[in-house]
Amino acid sequence: MPQYQDSCPLCGRNADVRPLERERFLVRCPFCRPVILDERLFEVLTNARRRNIAAVLDLLPGLSLASQRTCERGELLILTSTNWVRVSMAHSQMPAETARAGSF
Ligand SMILES: [Zn+2]
Repeated sequence: MPQYQDSCPLCGRNADVRPLERERFLVRCPFCRPVILDERLFEVLTNARRRNIAAVLDLLPGLSLASQRTCERGELLILTSTNWVRVSMAHSQMPAETARAGSF
């Protein structure tokens, strides 16, 4: 079990984190808005923050943006260990192709 903490795994700001049923967590962050994460993803993101794993941290702004946009539509984003990379890519400001082309 991950440690319950009071910071948002997406942006690091103070947030209200509480466990839900079926190994999910509800994060109520003033910046990212409410978002649900499953336990595995929660652990991945918490670990990445602690160890400063850039490959994961680079995807966090996209997740935060996805949550904000979902909330604006009156819905609640559910992030899982299987959908989070796709969700982040879809909402990152720089398309993956552009980022790749720019690095050469
Ligand atoms: Zn946040």
